[in-house]
Amino acid sequence: MALIVQKYGGTSVGSVERIREVAKRVAAYQRQGHRIVVVVSAMAGETNRLLDLARQVARRPSERESDALVASGEQVSAALLALALQDLGLKAASFLGHQVRIATDSAFGRARIQSIDKHRLLATLADGTVAVVAGFQGVDRDNNITTLGRGGSDTTGVALAAALGADVCEIFTDVDGVYTGDPRIVPHARKLGRVSYDEMLELASLGAKVLQIRAVEFAKRYRVPVHVRSSFGDEPGTMVIEEDKPMENVLVSGVAHDRDQAKITLLRVPDRPGLAAKVFGPIAAAGIVVDMIIQNASADGITDLTFTVPRGDFQKALSMVRGDEGGLGVQGIATDTKVAKVSIVGLGMRSHAGVAARMFEVLAGEGINIQMISTSEIKISVVVDEKYTELAVRALHDAFIPSRPAESRRPSAQESR
Ligand code: ASP
Ligand code: MG
Repeated sequence: MALIVQKYGGTSVGSVERIREVAKRVAAYQRQGHRIVVVVSAMAGETNRLLDLARQVARRPSERESDALVASGEQVSAALLALALQDLGLKAASFLGHQVRIATDSAFGRARIQSIDKHRLLATLADGTVAVVAGFQGVDRDNNITTLGRGGSDTTGVALAAALGADVCEIFTDVDGVYTGDPRIVPHARKLGRVSYDEMLELASLGAKVLQIRAVEFAKRYRVPVHVRSSFGDEPGTMVIEEDKPMENVLVSGVAHDRDQAKITLLRVPDRPGLAAKVFGPIAAAGIVVDMIIQNASADGITDLTFTVPRGDFQKALSMVRGDEGGLGVQGIATDTKVAKVSIVGLGMRSHAGVAARMFEVLAGEGINIQMISTSEIKISVVVDEKYTELAVRALHDAFIPSRPAESRRPSAQESR
C-alpha cells in the first residue's frame, strides 16, 4: 500500500465529463488500498479567463487581488472533484492552500513555498478519505492568498509529495510523457521511459513545456520520483528520477527547441571592468531573465556584447539599454527577434568528447548558420535563425537519437499504434 500524490492539469479536469473520469481513476487506485492525495489545476482556460476579467475592470490589476482572483479557479475544480468522488461512494474532502497550510513568501504571482503542514492531510487520509488539494495557491505570513506562478500546480503536487513522504508524484497531463523531441516536428520521436532530474531541468527550461521548472527543482532537492503521464489512457509515461549508471550511457536523450527568444547586440562597447554589470544589473532588477550572453575577446579594447531574452521582455530590455547608450559607451545596437534556440541534452556528454563538434557538423551539413553557442555539462545550445528551427531539430534528432534506445524499455502506446 502506497501513498500517492496525483496532480491533474487543466485539460484533465477541463469539463464535468473529464472530472468524472478523474474520479473513476482515483477510485480505482483507492480500491487497490493506496492512500491518495489529489492536486488539481483550474479547469482548462479558466486562469486566463479570470486574468482577462481583471484587465477589464482595472488598467493595472494589483498583484494581491489578482492572486485572490485566479486562486478561485482551483477552488472550483477541487470542490467539483471531491463531489464527484463522493458521488462514487468514496470519502473525499477538498482543501485550499490555507486550509492545508501551504505557507509561502509574499511574492504575489510567483510565490515560493516555505513549508507545508502535513498533519491535517495525514489525519484526513488515515480514515480512508481522499484529500483533494487546490493546486497553484498558498498563504503568506499575513494570511494573504498567494499563487505560485503559471503552471504552479505541478509544484504544489511535488511539494506535497515531498512533505508527505509519498512514494511517487504522478503528474497527469494531456501528453503521455517526455519525448526525445517535439513529435510535431519529429514524428518518430520516442517517449523516454526514464529521464534524470538534471536532464529534465534542461529539457524543461529548453522549451519542452511538460513540467514547471520549479517542480523539477523541488523533486530533485527532495528526491521525489515524478511520473509524467496522460490522463487519457493507462500506459506508463516517463519517470523523472535520480540518475543511475545506464542513464549515463545515453549520449543525447533529447533535442529541445525554444522559439521564445530575442537577441540584442551592443556594438563596439568599451571593454572595461564593470560594463557587464552596468548592462545586466538594471535588466535583472526589472525581473528580466537573460538567457545566453556572448562577449568577444577584444584586441583593441572594443568589444561586441550579445545576449538573448524572452520575446515578451524584448522591448523592455531594449529600451533599457537604449536609454543608457551614452552611459554605456555603446556605438550601436543590433536586434533580431526571429531567432530560436535549439539544444541537445544528455548525461552521457559529461564523459564523451566531440559531441559539440558533431552537433556543429550536422548543422553545417544543413547549411544552418550558428549565431550563438552555450554549453553546460549535459547540454549544448545554439541560437539559429528561427526559420531553421524545424530543420535543425530534425537533423539533430536523426544524428543523435538512435531509433532504438540502448536500454531495454517497455514499448509505448505511441509505437504500438
Ligand atoms: N491554473 C494555473 C495556470 O493555469 C496553475 C496550473 O495550471 O498549474 O497556470
Ligand atoms: Mg498546467
